[in-house]
Amino acid sequence: MSNFWDSIKPATRVPVAVQVDLSADQKNLALKWDDGLQTQVTARRLRQNCPCAECVEEWSGKRTFDPEKIPLETKIIEIEPVGNYALTFTFGDLHRVGIFNWKHLRELSG
Ligand SMILES: [Zn+2]
Repeated sequence: MSNFWDSIKPATRVPVAVQVDLSADQKNLALKWDDGLQTQVTARRLRQNCPCAECVEEWSGKRTFDPEKIPLETKIIEIEPVGNYALTFTFGDLHRVGIFNWKHLRELSG
């Protein structure tokens, strides 16, 4: 039931990843969140959902490529933090401009 007090509560806080582990084959990312949840996401899924301007048309929000064409064996070569709000990945195809914030990573994993 929603009431006045619910409507003025601050927006739900976005969980923050406290640990990020790349699997030995570099195809899987395991995330541990500050609310205790543990999630996983494949490098391929991250690459398919890259939010950068090259991968998503700014005016339409449409993907500029066919996600099915992203190879199954997609790897993550490098992970770098962006401030304390996001991660950026270098993928096997050397694409590395996408900034994945915690909210997006949480949606894509788990
Ligand atoms: Zn991209």
